[in-house]
Amino acid sequence: MLIAGHVGYTVGAVWALKALTKSDTSADYRAVAVMALAPDFMDRALFVFALPSAFDARLIAHTLIFQLAILGAITLIRRRWWLYGAASVGHLSLDSTGLSAAWARHMLWPLIGSEWRIIGIMPGSGAVTIPYQNWVWLRIQQALQPYGLAPWWVWLLEAGGALILLAFAYRKSLYQLPRLRRFLAAGEL
Ligand SMILES: [Zn+2]
Repeated sequence: MLIAGHVGYTVGAVWALKALTKSDTSADYRAVAVMALAPDFMDRALFVFALPSAFDARLIAHTLIFQLAILGAITLIRRRWWLYGAASVGHLSLDSTGLSAAWARHMLWPLIGSEWRIIGIMPGSGAVTIPYQNWVWLRIQQALQPYGLAPWWVWLLEAGGALILLAFAYRKSLYQLPRLRRFLAAGEL
């Protein structure tokens, strides 16, 4: 899934959870949005800047074990932050829409095979033989490739996420500039 899908469905889930449980505990929707994309931020950064031996833009942050560790760490820091850890764990299920055996092995690494290549890393390969800035530019282009290759149903799911965000903005009256400003400054109204 791409950006609007991840942010839209995750924000929608937190919004629905708050409505269903009639919870008055505040949730910072800015943090929810960032955490919904956190596995992509982490793995793309590793792929583009740090790991020449990575051959996939989904790496360690796209494994369940890593996500559960993050969830545990965040919850230990502050219990009510579990929601933000859960937003990051939820990223994996949203990435699971064209489920394949290779993706299941990746997500469950190291339970079904512990080789690094399962999570997109080939140790010892991919030395940087061109100037670093050229290499980073090349990696950015490779990391963006999935966006160009996404099939039609991925765009349909993206549209669903975008619609949820529009409904959210409408219900929170974010079309009124002062409310939008307040929302962006505080994450919640
Ligand atoms: Zn992802």
